[in-house]
Amino acid sequence: MVQNITSKITIIGAGPAGATLALFLAKYKIPHLLIDQASFPRDKICGDGLTCEVPRILRELDESIYQEFINADWVKPSNGAYIELKNGQKTSFESDNFSRNTSAVFVAKREIFDNWLISKLNTEYTQKIFSFKAESITRIGDLVEITGNQNGETITIISNLIIGADGERSIVRKTFHPEGIKKNREHCAAAIRCYYKGIEKLSDGNPLEMYQPKLIPKGYLWIFHLPNGEANVGFGGLSSDISENKINLVKEMNLYIQSNPDLKNRFKNAEALETPKGWGLPQNSDAYNYVGDNYLLIGDSAKFIEPLTGKGIGVAMFAAMLAVPTIKNAISKNTFNKNQLISFENVIENKYRAEWDKLYKLQNKVINAWYVPLFVTLLNITFIKNYLIKKQKTKTRKFLNKPLNKKVLDDYNLFENQ
Ligand SMILES: Cc1cc2nc3c(=O)[nH]c(=O)nc-3n(C[C@H](O)[C@H](O)[C@H](O)COP(=O)(O)OP(=O)(O)OC[C@H]3O[C@@H](n4cnc5c(N)ncnc54)[C@H](O)[C@@H]3O)c2cc1C
Repeated sequence: MVQNITSKITIIGAGPAGATLALFLAKYKIPHLLIDQASFPRDKICGDGLTCEVPRILRELDESIYQEFINADWVKPSNGAYIELKNGQKTSFESDNFSRNTSAVFVAKREIFDNWLISKLNTEYTQKIFSFKAESITRIGDLVEITGNQNGETITIISNLIIGADGERSIVRKTFHPEGIKKNREHCAAAIRCYYKGIEKLSDGNPLEMYQPKLIPKGYLWIFHLPNGEANVGFGGLSSDISENKINLVKEMNLYIQSNPDLKNRFKNAEALETPKGWGLPQNSDAYNYVGDNYLLIGDSAKFIEPLTGKGIGVAMFAAMLAVPTIKNAISKNTFNKNQLISFENVIENKYRAEWDKLYKLQNKVINAWYVPLFVTLLNITFIKNYLIKKQKTKTRKFLNKPLNKKVLDDYNLFENQ
């Protein structure tokens, strides 16, 4: 049996990018279709670190959703971070009087977070089709046809605009950018994740630990503690370093833990809850052409992950929100070509490119420079540390409470007027 569906706007992928876009389109009363090959809840290989863009976007969406997120018992706020360099130097930032609404990072299992986001969808404007994998995308005149399968039934969707929010192995990217399949390993990271229980905590409040391995100095090993007592442990770095040095991430992660006396001791009663799983992180230093005739890419499919940190959730959600005005204008003009959609790319480039370039430089030139240990020595001086903690807290508070970047608002003039 074949089912034919028509939808002006179709979002492929209901991860943070696709779900956030669906939530904002509904907020502005724009009907659309949201499809995903998975049924929710589903796992996503990730570090589970949600940076402060996440609550910021949720607040922009709806104050009660934001409050629900920051107070949820499945979300652990962080009051700092612990960092250990490849030379063994350590530094730790912990602020005493912190609250859930000034935390710069939260830790939450993606399986729970993504499902929670999906639970907020507004069925009046969002039509969902899950357990449906998009298998082929074809342009037909000025429309696009998506064909796929759900429980043995073929479904065909005809749309004016498709949004590729379908992650690192995006079929939308592959369709419109066949050259994009060949990954530039200088601009792509790879990492593994393994959930553990029974790791001794470093401190009660601080759930974030990062270690710089000698073997992959542009990457890191992380231990992010979850509210249920488990920990997300992962290891990754630049794909070019991993492939050139033929690094087996699972083996090296275990070797690192066993060779670090503190970690070895803290892992003595730890139990791995799964076999480590790996996934790619396409970095935004290589993001280009993420709009074209009848399509727009957001999140990992657009390669929006930050170099150095591997942060992708917040950027994906921010970009999803910023795509709404472009989509709204395209619908009102009933035009879905590249010229019409390019405003999205311009806004993203204006907002992020300088920062992305800086992070790429940090990852490739600064992180291994001779002066980094000196810098960490300075950071360990109490008054400098306290000053920086205070500055960071003020910055986070401002970010969470102030309107969005004025320039972006001026460019679009949307969020102020609605
Ligand atoms: C090991 C690792 C650790 C990471 N740690 C962090 C971290 O701590 N913090 C952080 O901010 N970022 C982290 N990231 C990056 C983060 O996971 C991604 O940036 C984020 O998930 C991007 O969201 P997305 O919605 O674009 O894609 P995804 O979350 O990948 O969602 C894509 C969705 O599309 C669906 N889909 C795919 N193909 C199809 C198809 N053909 N048809 C239908 N549906 C389809 C999938 O089922 C999925 O639900 C990490 C990444 C990795 C690999």
